[in-house]
Amino acid sequence: MRCPYCKDPMEEGCVQGPRGIYWSEKPSKFIPPYKKNTMPLSEETFLTIPTIRAHRCQKCEIIILCSKEKQVYW
Ligand SMILES: [Zn+2]
Repeated sequence: MRCPYCKDPMEEGCVQGPRGIYWSEKPSKFIPPYKKNTMPLSEETFLTIPTIRAHRCQKCEIIILCSKEKQVYW
């Protein structure tokens, strides 16, 4: 994948959040954020680390999350 800003190749990797990864219009102080317009991006089961595949451009300091590619790590 190429960075949409600088067009350089992006690094493949993942983003992990011990309490889940969510998209929300506004930040929440509650975990998980039970708000309107909040969408979980990671699969969550007991004793797993919520993980989502991602691409990173270090130069532009952006990360693109692939929310269709959820992964579960034990
Ligand atoms: Zn870039």
